[in-house]
Amino acid sequence: MSWLIDWLYPKKCLGCGRGDDYLCNFCERKIKIAGLRQKSGFEGLISIYKYDGVMKKIIEEIKYQHLSAAIESLGQKMGQSLKINYPETVKHWQKEHFVLVPIPLYKGRENWRGFNQAREIAVVVAQKLGLEYAEILERKKKGVNLAKIHNHQQRMAEIKGVFRVKNEIERREKIILVDDVITSGATMTEALKTWKKVSPQGRGWGLSLAGVRR
Ligand SMILES: [Zn+2]
Repeated sequence: MSWLIDWLYPKKCLGCGRGDDYLCNFCERKIKIAGLRQKSGFEGLISIYKYDGVMKKIIEEIKYQHLSAAIESLGQKMGQSLKINYPETVKHWQKEHFVLVPIPLYKGRENWRGFNQAREIAVVVAQKLGLEYAEILERKKKGVNLAKIHNHQQRMAEIKGVFRVKNEIERREKIILVDDVITSGATMTEALKTWKKVSPQGRGWGLSLAGVRR
């Protein structure tokens, strides 16, 4: 169906609506790099871009227009940025055989949207960095929009128990959880917790296209 969508929505910059690519040079220069942060339970958490301004608009446009081709092109940029800005981390992932694992969407929502952005990103980045990709988690129920809940406790309560490990036999000890956006980190933390019940010795990273610092 993606060809139809590309035809309905001709390629133009998602930041400003001009040009003939998903991100023009002008808008790309306005996007700020987010960086690495620490979070308990994780070896590290990397968001490539700051979730504000142009990036916020781009992610909303992708969701609204169902642009899987655009997310693929952003995944390429992510892979490139990881190699340039985090060469030691990338080497560490490669040497230790970390596996990229997308944060799953609830099936109904994925069918409606046609794709899961986290998965698209994970596939492209895995390819770009020469890492393995595996769908280890699934989402049991539809979650509410966590971005709308500002209370931390409430957010954690809302996300608790939504994930399940798909295949407990095929264990992975080193994973990089991938999502499109990391805001509070509640989703990432819950996904890591769920996975650690099966792999208690496991080591996990978090990676996203965009993120905020808290
Ligand atoms: Zn632009």
